[in-house]
Amino acid sequence: MKYISTRGQAPSLSFEDVVLTGLASDGGLYVPESLPKFSQSEIASWAGLSYQELAFKVMHPFVSEALSDDELKQLIEKSYASFRHPAIAPLVQTDHNEWVLELFQGPTLAFKDFALQFLGNLLDHILKKRDQKVVVMGATSGDTGSAAIEGCRHCDNLDIFILHPHQRVSEVQRRQMTTVLEDNVYNIALEGNFDDCQNMVKASFADQSFLPEGRQLVAVNSINFARIMAQIVYYFYAALALGGPARAVSFSVPTGNFGDIFAGYLAKQMGLPIEQLIVATNQNDILHRCISANDHSKQSLVHSLSPSMDIMVSSNFERLLFDLYGRNGRAIAELMEQFKSGSMTLSEQAMAKLTEGFASYRLDDDETVAVIAEVWDTCEYLLDPHTAIGVRAARKKRANASTPMVCLATAHPAKFPEAVAKACEGIDSPALPHHMADLFEREERYQVLAHDTQAVQSFIANNL
Ligand SMILES: *Cc1c(COP(=O)(O)O)cnc(C)c1O
Repeated sequence: MKYISTRGQAPSLSFEDVVLTGLASDGGLYVPESLPKFSQSEIASWAGLSYQELAFKVMHPFVSEALSDDELKQLIEKSYASFRHPAIAPLVQTDHNEWVLELFQGPTLAFKDFALQFLGNLLDHILKKRDQKVVVMGATSGDTGSAAIEGCRHCDNLDIFILHPHQRVSEVQRRQMTTVLEDNVYNIALEGNFDDCQNMVKASFADQSFLPEGRQLVAVNSINFARIMAQIVYYFYAALALGGPARAVSFSVPTGNFGDIFAGYLAKQMGLPIEQLIVATNQNDILHRCISANDHSKQSLVHSLSPSMDIMVSSNFERLLFDLYGRNGRAIAELMEQFKSGSMTLSEQAMAKLTEGFASYRLDDDETVAVIAEVWDTCEYLLDPHTAIGVRAARKKRANASTPMVCLATAHPAKFPEAVAKACEGIDSPALPHHMADLFEREERYQVLAHDTQAVQSFIANNL
């Protein structure tokens, strides 16, 4: 299977090259040239498979030229062995015909582990085969960093450098990154904010001459298609558990960069009967404004109780736009050029397809807190603030009471004690799962560096 750029100008690439490349040279994102399609009877025959067995079925067509069946099976086994629950993605019922899909059973307690555990192992596998070493570099405002570090800590052929804004991430978030002491893991606490971190990473990708001969930077951010691919699996898993494909299922997805819900969209294109896909956002609501009013304009960032969804622009949305515009790369390049001004208007046709495929809802912090309290009161189940946004959106936008509704639970409530404390009197600090109970006693290692590109780049070069 070949992968093509959403802007139509970059060369098409193999799966292996897409994993290592990140952004296409024309500024676009890579997507499969055509999607694998599964028949209803084929999907039905997967009922009862374990998560790992199902992952093999779903991912196989995307990677079959790069990996043998055994290699893919081994990568999947290794990636999900670090999850604490034997179901990997268990469903919990929260209301009549409503479930949350617990995607926080991985090592960092957020759904990003699904993709990053797999991506780390996949990268290492590809690099060993090529006898190549790379440097993973990324910026984090909290969550992605720890999932990336956990995904890469056991990889022999890469070193990972993660920048976080010094003293601006929560202690849990910092410790999840800095207590990983493997020799190939480097945490940099940058004296600056998240944007400074991100700009430094961008500048380093643009000019990689600070690296020794033969080394290149690799990004593991959410535009890496392998991450999206790994996330398609749990849509199939949840639907099969609830009677699919014979009956359709709906999903509500707490959305930031549009990676997670885009995976749901792909599942639907591949043949899974999905009735509704609901985009749930916090106050940073560019996607909700776009879907409800064709207003895709950048607004200033608001810091919410659901920080992992605090984004101004959703980078993966471009992948959907590519389909909405009939996979016309030139049209997307033009649209993105228009968006440089800060806003863009979708064509009538694209809007029609968008609103046919997606519903949306937006919550502020007060409403988020209210949902956590409501669900706690009604079924003593504790939601994290991101998941709460998905649950409220599901309840507001649901089209059909008889269709099972699955709300993706993207993080464990213990990661976001502030929101939970606001919502529920008496449980001010949800307990960390057993395997992380000693997080606050563990040894930490990180380097504080000045907001100075050269200092950061020398730190990286000197540690390779
Ligand atoms: C990253 C993240 C999201 C948003 O997912 P996208 O794929 O960026 O839309 C939602 N919730 C949590 C907890 C996250 O870490």
